[in-house]
Order: sequence, then structure tokens, then C-alpha cells
Amino acid sequence: SETKPAYKRVMLKISGEALMGSQQFGLHPPTVQRIANEIKKVHDLGVEICLVIGGGNIFRGLQGSAQGMERATADYMGMLATVMNALGMQSALEDLGIFTRVISAIPMDQICEPYIRRRAVRHLEKGRVCVFAAGTGNPYFTTDTAATLRASEMDCEVIFKGTQVDGIYDSDPKTNPDAKRYERVTYDEVLQKNLKVMDASAIALARDNALPIVVFSLDEPNGLVGVLNGKGRYTVVE
Ligand code: UDP
Repeated sequence: SETKPAYKRVMLKISGEALMGSQQFGLHPPTVQRIANEIKKVHDLGVEICLVIGGGNIFRGLQGSAQGMERATADYMGMLATVMNALGMQSALEDLGIFTRVISAIPMDQICEPYIRRRAVRHLEKGRVCVFAAGTGNPYFTTDTAATLRASEMDCEVIFKGTQVDGIYDSDPKTNPDAKRYERVTYDEVLQKNLKVMDASAIALARDNALPIVVFSLDEPNGLVGVLNGKGRYTVVE
């Protein structure tokens, strides 16, 4: 049943931790391959795909600074971690025959492309997956904000935020069996109730640019291609 996909161009944000599999740290190649396969299903529909991967499986700036490192330096280490994850995902996607560009907010020409907006748009038009790495290129930000910023610049219609749970709940579903999942929630509710979706600067930027955020589970087989067609369980922030 090949129906026309609901979107032309999307942003997918996944945390670095999603690449760990059952490990405590780093990249788990079979897990990276599994996620690459999920992305391929969407790519096969002809949807243009932007990707932002966090770095939390390797290094988080806040952890470094909590241990006495200078914050900005620790954040640069976090940004470098996102480049490693992006390269790992590029390798997995290209194994599946999907042309992929890693585009870094901080130039490192031997490793990947520098971010040039018009060039990135052209890649998308040609059906290449663009993995935006090194966050926003600035300390004190997160990859959630980077995903929202790039989604705005690339004119994506929606941000898909892949997590370990199938949406946003009014309390933690892992500890509270009566936790209720929201179908829809507004940006302002997310901010006021401090719901754990994305950090506040990312939510505010999405709100200001009217970018809906769809929160879904990456652990679900066919989860990504499902939510893209409005199937399965998820929460929409709009
Ligand atoms: N980071 C940053 N600026 C950015 C994006 C990321 O300084 O624009 C750093 C920050 O230290 C962060 C780390 O990179 O902790 C990894 O990113 P993030 O925590 O967003 O990864 P995730 O939680 O999604 O795995």
C-alpha cells in the first residue's frame, strides 16, 4: 500500500544514547544499523531527510563541567562527540546505499563538509541524507536546539524526536503505571509544566517558527515510518 507520504522534508533528532544499544557508552554498531534501516524506509518513500544526532553516549558538556572542566571546553568536546556519531551513522546509511553527507557546524574539512545552507538544501533536493553535526557550533546549547535551528533553516515541515518512550507523559511512565500520554500538547504547556521533551530554548525556537515536534519511540520496529504516516503512538507538540 504505497501512499504518498505526508511530508516532503523532515528533521529527525535522535539522542546519542539511542546509539548505545544495551551498552553503557559509545556506539553499538548493530543498533546504529537498525536505526539506519528505519531511516531507509522513510528515504525509500522519497522523503527528504535531515538528521541531528546528539553526543550524550560519548560526552556531555555539563558532566565535564560538573567535574571541574571549563564549561565551554567541555561543550566543544560534546560537539566533537556528535561528529563521531554522525560519521558512524553515515557509514551505516551508505552501507544501505543511501548517499549521506555529514555537515559540521565547525569546519573540519578532512572529515566532513562545513555547513553552507544553500549547499545543504541542494543535497536534500538530490535525495542525500544530511547529518548535521557539531550542534549549533556554540557552547551552552544542545543538539535539540541545533535540530530545531537546522529544521528551520532547511524549511522542514516537522521535527521527529525519537526517544525510548512513545510520547510525552504527564509523569514518568517508567515509575508511574498511571502516567497518562498526551496526544497533543502546546509549546507553552511543555514550557509551563516543564515536560521533558526538549530543552526550553529548543521548544521556544520551534514555537516561534511554528515547527511541530512529533515525539515517538525509536525502539518500535517501523516506528519512524509509522508516525510519518500518522500511525502508531506518539505525541505532537504544536
Ligand atoms: N553541545 C554544544 N552546543 C550545541 C550542541 C551540543 O555545546 O549546539 C554539546 C553539549 O556539551 C552537549 C553535547 O554537545 O552536552 C552533546 O549534545 P546533547 O547533550 O544535546 O546530546 P544528546 O543528549 O542528544 O545525546
